[in-house]
Amino acid sequence: MYDVLVLGAGASGIMAASQLYNHKVCIVDSNSKIGEKIKISGGSKCNITNEYLDESYYLGDKAFIKETLTTFSNKDLLKFLSSNNVKPKINPKIVKGTYFCNSSEDVLNMFSSLISHCTLKLDTKVSDISYDKHYVIKTNKGTLQAKKLIIASGGLSYASLGASDIGFTCAKFFGHSINKLNPALVGFTVQKDQFWFKELSGLSVDAKITISNKNQDIKILEGKMLFTHKGCSGPVILSTSLYWQKGNFTIDFLPSKNSYLPKRVRAAIKANDIDVHNYAMSPAGNFGYTKAEVTKGGINTNELTNSFQSKLQKDLYFIGEVVDVTGELGGYNFQWAFSSAICCTNEIKAI
Ligand SMILES: Cc1cc2nc3c(=O)[nH]c(=O)nc-3n(C[C@H](O)[C@H](O)[C@H](O)COP(=O)(O)OP(=O)(O)OC[C@H]3O[C@@H](n4cnc5c(N)ncnc54)[C@H](O)[C@@H]3O)c2cc1C
Repeated sequence: MYDVLVLGAGASGIMAASQLYNHKVCIVDSNSKIGEKIKISGGSKCNITNEYLDESYYLGDKAFIKETLTTFSNKDLLKFLSSNNVKPKINPKIVKGTYFCNSSEDVLNMFSSLISHCTLKLDTKVSDISYDKHYVIKTNKGTLQAKKLIIASGGLSYASLGASDIGFTCAKFFGHSINKLNPALVGFTVQKDQFWFKELSGLSVDAKITISNKNQDIKILEGKMLFTHKGCSGPVILSTSLYWQKGNFTIDFLPSKNSYLPKRVRAAIKANDIDVHNYAMSPAGNFGYTKAEVTKGGINTNELTNSFQSKLQKDLYFIGEVVDVTGELGGYNFQWAFSSAICCTNEIKAI
């Protein structure tokens, strides 16, 4: 019987496990290695956090997010990394304030050593969870038992890297509600009106995007937009996919005096009679979970304490992307994974 079983050896799971050095901990993951998303993130340099951090960069319950980020901030994360000899540097080239590591491997090596007290069960897929005085976790390699369970199983994006719906199935089983799931930080497919994007495939421009959804504050995002064969992508579009729900958003293709439009873009804008400062478009859809960096929506945070414990089922915790909090592009999602893990383990350590 384990004191704590952590389902998922992704960012949030390994951070949580690393903190529980006085507990008998088991980490289970269907992948053959820990932190598969960390490994490929940020072009293998892991964009781990951002200098500019507050709840405004996230979708979800703002008060809940604020409390979590205050408990373990970007500065706390950088201090933690530095004390383990990982020293990310700011690189604002693509998104302002982003911190990148020398190599993602540094982060993975750090966590490998910080979880050496844990039993690590890799290539082990969890198929069912139940509770009878303690947690009973069924896997393809037998059944495990634990007094406390931390679900750190992530969202639905990138099934090729182990994503499954186990976290949501388990949450529903214990009575939780799941806010609508959708791919996010993903490119858009376009409607006929934007077929002129296709001729410009491969070109990128500065863009300022204004999104005004019903019941939501107006969101303004700036950054590079990339024209692609099937639509559009690039940093500013990926973050737009986080906030856009339905209807039009508008694009300013010349947001500042310093913006430059490539010749072919200028010609296409003229030929298609485009309003360069206020172009309204409504995407046909997006590139889906296979391409989306994250899943928006998730376990309703009203049903979790500030320590990420279920209010409906004792000794059950949900951390990381599986909960209904999603950040913009720029290191915000790893920061969330780590901050939520620390809020959870602060409580477990204190019990
Ligand atoms: C290509 C890509 C690049 C990214 N780059 C960045 C970046 O640079 N900066 C940033 O902040 N964010 C980035 N993200 C987002 C970030 O990776 C996630 O938000 C973060 O990893 C979420 O952490 P998590 O611990 O909640 O889930 P995950 O890291 O997804 O971990 C969940 C783990 O649970 C395991 N699991 C799931 N189901 C089961 C099951 N049934 N049985 C056993 N194990 C299971 C999975 O194998 C996985 O290892 C990127 C994402 C992708 C896909």
